Amino acid sequence: MRAPTTDSPALRVTSLFLSIDGEVNARGQGTPSFFIRLAGCNLRCWQRFGGCDTLYSFGPGTSMSVDELLARVEASGCPKVTLTGGEPLLQKGAALAALLRGLRERGVFVSMETNGSIAPDFEGRECVGSLVYDYKCPSSGCTAAMQPFVALFRSLGPSDYIKFVLRDLADYAFARGRVLEARELRDGRPCPVLAFSPMLPTAEDGLPPDTLVARLLADRLFEVQVNVQLHKYVWPDATTEV
Ligand code: SF4
Repeated sequence: MRAPTTDSPALRVTSLFLSIDGEVNARGQGTPSFFIRLAGCNLRCWQRFGGCDTLYSFGPGTSMSVDELLARVEASGCPKVTLTGGEPLLQKGAALAALLRGLRERGVFVSMETNGSIAPDFEGRECVGSLVYDYKCPSSGCTAAMQPFVALFRSLGPSDYIKFVLRDLADYAFARGRVLEARELRDGRPCPVLAFSPMLPTAEDGLPPDTLVARLLADRLFEVQVNVQLHKYVWPDATTEV
């Protein structure tokens, strides 16, 4: 393991933990992954329903040097990192780029989960194996903050994802509209994967996974992957990160 240096740039971190990646990424759902959850978020999703499931990431977090973070990843021995938040791209810049480049040098595959409000043109982007955009649907109350869909779809590659978390049928209609829009943009070049993810646990007036799948198949949205958040099945009652 390389020794940390004193002048290493720093990032604000909410938590570090080893788990499985329950979301879409090019290594597959369920792949063991070392999570780096960065602190802070610029959105406030699902305020009408009590807020999102990572409210604890909104705080200032703890400052950690890039060298320290790389040492923690190395110590875990895990060949995959999930960089998430909050919103990790709020901290885009030299420190995040140094972390991403350090992970690539160590042969670590990185998936980054970002909320859809920040363009994918950040420093170190080339070191991200899967960029997973969580494109906010109407129930989140944050759709207006999203990047323009057409430009975003065109700027991502075949190992990247645009994922729609669906709470209800209005969200489904919104996401279906984006899938149809994307069909017009497919010109033979490799495109990002589109994914629909039912919100779990399902609300009483919500869209359960079996209803979502039935709608998706009836509508022949064959280019869409269904993303059921695997970690919420493994640990349905978890109150801390696992
Ligand atoms: S972007 Fe993510 S962390 Fe931020 S409020 Fe929305 S769901 Fe929560």
